Amino acid sequence: MKLDVNALRYLAKDDFRVLTAVEMGMRNHEIVPVELIDRIARLKHGGTYKVLRNLLRNKLVHHGATKYDGYRLTYLGYDFLAIKTLVNRGVFASVGRQIGVGKESDIFEVATDDGTVLAMKLHRLGRTSFRAVKSKRDYLRHRRSFNWLYLSRLAALKEFAFMKALGDHGFPVPTAVDCNRHCVIMSLVQGYPLVQVKKLQNPDDVFDSILGLIVRLAEHGLIHCDFNEFNIMIDDDEKITVIDFPQMVSVSHRNAQMFFDRDIECIYKFFNKRFNLRSVKNEEQAGSENDDEGNSRPSFLSVEKGAGSLDKELAASGFTRKEKVDMDKYIEEVVEGHDSSSDDDNDEDSSDEPDCDLTPSDSDAPGTFSEEHGTSCSGENRLEIPPSDGNG
Ligand code: ADP
Ligand code: MG
Repeated sequence: MKLDVNALRYLAKDDFRVLTAVEMGMRNHEIVPVELIDRIARLKHGGTYKVLRNLLRNKLVHHGATKYDGYRLTYLGYDFLAIKTLVNRGVFASVGRQIGVGKESDIFEVATDDGTVLAMKLHRLGRTSFRAVKSKRDYLRHRRSFNWLYLSRLAALKEFAFMKALGDHGFPVPTAVDCNRHCVIMSLVQGYPLVQVKKLQNPDDVFDSILGLIVRLAEHGLIHCDFNEFNIMIDDDEKITVIDFPQMVSVSHRNAQMFFDRDIECIYKFFNKRFNLRSVKNEEQAGSENDDEGNSRPSFLSVEKGAGSLDKELAASGFTRKEKVDMDKYIEEVVEGHDSSSDDDNDEDSSDEPDCDLTPSDSDAPGTFSEEHGTSCSGENRLEIPPSDGNG
């Protein structure tokens, strides 16, 4: 899905007020009744109805009329609420070009007031898995917690917490800047995904440092679970940066060993195929666990013994218990069986989005507008792209 920032240009404060009202209503309604939206937004003279038509025209909300007249947010509407909040907070001032399409995310450049360029990751959980899950409607019907905006928010929260903790512990990850709803702001990594690199000066060194990272992560109590050439960035000096953390698990996860081995295997396979790596080849030819220098393939059991407790620190941070359970379920049911080879689904329109039941956990009472939960009605709009609407 493209993020058409142009639509933001034409949105006034009433639009954001009503959009926020829809979001609030989605805490306990899949489709929020129009009357409820009107009650929360409290616009004069039936203004809510006019605004809703405008939001619908801009694809920021989806109209549902099966059981009653109502609306829900689309991903685009959710994007705008997050962007608006972060811009109001002064985190960035403009949105630039799209730099990445992940399996379940869109990545854009954003710029701060002083011109620093950062990366904005908008989580889109369910983009690749939705079509598969859609055919299992029965299964979905019994799973109210299976809603994509909510899960995308959890994924962002988790990614932000992990990125921050890993950075604090000296791991080569982007700097975590801020997070709101399903949106994570981080430093822009200079370099390219390893998958795009055809030739390396020192493939052995890069290979060793990547394997070393997997081991060091496990020594801290964590497994990446999607450690592959798509999620490793490499710069001109062949320095690597790891990205993409929503699916990370603790070494005490019951499938930890399988995930660890799978991460290692992905790296061996890729380096063997792409760089024809000597040590990898020898290992495979010999059919043993040792390469020609007698180095053995990292073993989960030996790492796990002395593992630190970053996993426990992180489990305790940010997430409520219910959020953790929901996220773990998602990882288990959708991510565990994934294949990491296709990154190309970019054409979802709002009609293809699943019905969403968004349930944010913060404690604003309906009818109050906090910065965290959307636009402040008196807040000025400092968004440059699109330019300020003056009274935002
Ligand atoms: P997904 O979870 O959907 O796979 P990723 O976090 O892996 O999303 O990001 C998808 C792509 O976006 C990456 O392969 C990379 O090209 C680009 N990207 C992500 N984060 C950054 C960043 N901080 N700096 C530069 N490019 C990034
Ligand atoms: Mg990725």
